[in-house]
Amino acid sequence: MRDARVAFRTLGCKVNQVEAESIAAELLGRGVQIVAEEDAEVVIVTTCTVTGEADRKARKAVRHALRLPAEPVVVVTGCLAATDGAELAALGERVVVEADKTAVAARVGTLVKTSRRRKRSAVRVGERFHTRAMVKVQDGCDAFCAYCIVPHARGVPTSVPHADVLAEVERLVSAGVAEVVLTGINIGRYDDDGMRLPGLLRAIAATGVPRVRVSSIEPEDVTEPFLAAAAETRAFCRHLHVPLQSGCDRTLAAMGRRYDTAGFAAMLARARAALPDVAVTTDVLVGFPGETDVDFAQTLTFVRECFFTRLHVFRYSVRSGTRAADLPGRVPPDILATRAAAMRHLDAACRRAFSASMVGETVELLVERIVDSPDGPMAEGTTREYLHVSAPGAGRTVGEVAEVRIEALEGGRLRGKW
Ligand code: SF4
Repeated sequence: MRDARVAFRTLGCKVNQVEAESIAAELLGRGVQIVAEEDAEVVIVTTCTVTGEADRKARKAVRHALRLPAEPVVVVTGCLAATDGAELAALGERVVVEADKTAVAARVGTLVKTSRRRKRSAVRVGERFHTRAMVKVQDGCDAFCAYCIVPHARGVPTSVPHADVLAEVERLVSAGVAEVVLTGINIGRYDDDGMRLPGLLRAIAATGVPRVRVSSIEPEDVTEPFLAAAAETRAFCRHLHVPLQSGCDRTLAAMGRRYDTAGFAAMLARARAALPDVAVTTDVLVGFPGETDVDFAQTLTFVRECFFTRLHVFRYSVRSGTRAADLPGRVPPDILATRAAAMRHLDAACRRAFSASMVGETVELLVERIVDSPDGPMAEGTTREYLHVSAPGAGRTVGEVAEVRIEALEGGRLRGKW
């Protein structure tokens, strides 16, 4: 009997990260050591398939693991394993595809046998829980937006029972976690026997957690009840990530999104009235089939008008099995690249403008790490608005929450003073 040495390579969204952490926790309970990839007998790759680029990265991660000198078994799970497991299995003899994430730990157990619990590795997972922790509350989506493979990979919406969510948050709070990030594929679909997201938010706030953040919410789920719950919850971080995808009504309709630009702008106005100074970030998908230069120009204009604080830019790529895969009007790769570059340029401008507007403001910083710098130790962390700020680190501790005045924007980084 020997201790199994297992490494993780996790790609994609926050839900994948939470799921990989659950697998890690289960394996630790079975006595497994979590090690660097180079030392591993088993490498668990959690894949994403949201774009063609995500597929490429997943295959690259598997090939990389297969080339490691220790010749590990590569267990592949996640969304690409669910949609295209055969292709992944064909990458090598040492590849084991396990699409069911809840079965991964047991599968590893059959690959390597171990029983002793190793404290050293438990500390490694625990380290991640000191400051901000993700809590999965929901999985799946049945919206079937025309471009999106996620409903095919993850199935219909399911909600984690609220009692389980609250128990997890309470456990994290007593372990000293200062912020929980609620994650899911489509969090607005949360429904545990009638308890919806606003009720869950109130119940989580009642645990005494200092900060709670919602990782992403669809525009139609930014409802009055949600905004009311967010506004009355002191712990709620005034940051919303609301995917826009396009600022062209024709494209939004073709995508199968359930709002137009006027509806999105009205939602933003309601959110900003209910939550003054809320920072809003978004996703933009460029190059959807049929998107013309004029459509894209409309999107650029609309995005500018929305005053987002940050954009996540995605290039459209064909996902077979989705409705958009059969649509005419594919945007040529060079135009796709030009549009993505223009949108990334706008993203940089959004970030700069928001950061510059915060100089002189006093914000609440959650210290996530202390790093060495030529000016001495620096405390780095995240504000409620999802800004990354550093401030002098002497006498500060990881996990501490304190107010900092933002003094300067230097080379794209915000510097503050306690
Ligand atoms: S809401 Fe649309 S884009 Fe989001 S996961 Fe569901 S189908 Fe995909």
